[in-house]
Amino acid sequence: KRILVTGGTGFIGQALCRQLHERKHELTIFSRQPPESVKACCGRVDAVRSLEHLRGHGGFDAVINLAGEGIADKRWSSSRKEALRDSRIGVTKTLVEVIRSWDKRPEVLVSGSAVGFYGDQGAETVTEDTPPHDEFTHRLCRDWEAAAGPLEQDGVRVCFSRTGVVAGPGGGFLERMLPPFRLGLGGRLGNGQQYMPWVHREDVVGALVWMLETPEAAGAYNVVSPNPVTNTEFTRTLGKVLGRPTIFPVPAPVLKVALGEMARLLLTGQKAMPARLMDGGYPFRYPDLSQALENATAPGKGR
Ligand code: NDP
Repeated sequence: KRILVTGGTGFIGQALCRQLHERKHELTIFSRQPPESVKACCGRVDAVRSLEHLRGHGGFDAVINLAGEGIADKRWSSSRKEALRDSRIGVTKTLVEVIRSWDKRPEVLVSGSAVGFYGDQGAETVTEDTPPHDEFTHRLCRDWEAAAGPLEQDGVRVCFSRTGVVAGPGGGFLERMLPPFRLGLGGRLGNGQQYMPWVHREDVVGALVWMLETPEAAGAYNVVSPNPVTNTEFTRTLGKVLGRPTIFPVPAPVLKVALGEMARLLLTGQKAMPARLMDGGYPFRYPDLSQALENATAPGKGR
């Protein structure tokens, strides 16, 4: 199949591109980077630097839309919040307009979203039917999903990946967490009771490919492992996997001062379950946290 990917150079995107190559798909990547850098990240692909170049195009069989500024890269000032919104909602709106200009519509659009859609849910079990709590991440994900709405009305099959906290080698949140943990300076965050809906990157890629290839798949899917854990359990497991103590908790007020509103990413969470992926029979490769972390932290593993 001919597939257009946005965000293909990212932590998830690079692993996705590898999997799509293995399945013999032909890839075109939308990236702001020069084509040589895109090829260095994604292998043998076509690269376009502006979606506008694809206006009036003959069409692709499928589109996967993962572009977005890093949610945890900078404090959430009002200009940063705008950049987080523009790079998701703005890019998706343009993508939808461009797709509508094609001779042929794609069979499927798989578009990004996040468990932040639900807002802070404490210890409640969260499925795709759980009503969200209104906060910044909810509005961001809600509007990001809604931006793809016009294609659903056109009869395109649209799936949303409400992705959890992605663990994998060489990037993501673990890359930032690992240095103190490896030095034995790790510990729980705040009171540690908040849930972490973790998922291994191979299962994110697996779920995206499953949505792409399952003709009945449509709507929102929680892309999280079936075993969410509290931050305390996560911390303990990571310490065990690394063979290091985890006795240095970081108090909530310290995180709030250091990160401002963004501290919510670390201090709140969702006990999210992949109810619809499980119903659909998606086979998880890493349902177990210890095994997922052993793989993600193994030395010598790049992206
Ligand atoms: P990365 O930050 O690694 O990659 C994001 C990609 O988005 C980059 O390849 C970049 O492409 C593109 N991008 C960034 N800013 C812009 C912009 N302003 N305009 C156009 N494109 C832009 O993210 P991940 O791979 O980790 O995640 C992919 C998506 O999944 C993101 O949207 C993220 O919010 C979501 N997600 C990720 C989670 C995680 O734990 N990793 C958890 C939940 C959701 P380039 O530089 O080539 O233009």
